[in-house]
Amino acid sequence: MVRLNEIRAGEVAVAPPATVDAGLVFIGRIHTPWIDRLGCPRQGRADGPACRIEVFPPWREALDGVSLYERLEILYWLDRSRRDLVRQSPADDGTTRGTFSLRSPVRPNPIGTSIVHLIRVEDGVVHVRGLDCLDGTPLLDIKPDRTLFTPLAPPQAGDDAVGDA
Ligand code: SAM
Repeated sequence: MVRLNEIRAGEVAVAPPATVDAGLVFIGRIHTPWIDRLGCPRQGRADGPACRIEVFPPWREALDGVSLYERLEILYWLDRSRRDLVRQSPADDGTTRGTFSLRSPVRPNPIGTSIVHLIRVEDGVVHVRGLDCLDGTPLLDIKPDRTLFTPLAPPQAGDDAVGDA
């Protein structure tokens, strides 16, 4: 499972798909104090250590406006995870749950997300607290925390849709 790539009692792995359906671009690298999975927090916390999100040069202009938001949502690629388990045993006690009912890093597309607290943005680096990933983890995206974000684009019909389709 999660920690050291072993299969635990009751866990179920499936064969990896023969092809992939989409490509991703790593837009930066996350620098944290954690160099092994066993020492890493399971979830980041607002009072956790300051971490640095390095955004690679072609994407740095995309940081304009980020400082307006006290909290950001960070998406990252949990690159050292296995991707083939459909049932996992987080407690390693023989009981298992489906991968999609967990926030384990082991998943078919190992995307991690954290809501982080912004410290500052400086020279293409976003300084934050609240991460839970290993040093060197690839960065996928940065967005304002959705609870703080009001769309800037004009309203459209679907915005008011409620109830059944
Ligand atoms: N907060 C994210 C989420 O909920 O989507 C990730 C939660 S996941 C439980 C965090 C754990 O993933 C860490 O405790 C560590 O064991 C593992 N991890 C962190 N960085 C990783 C990486 N680059 N590759 C593989 N596993 C990683």
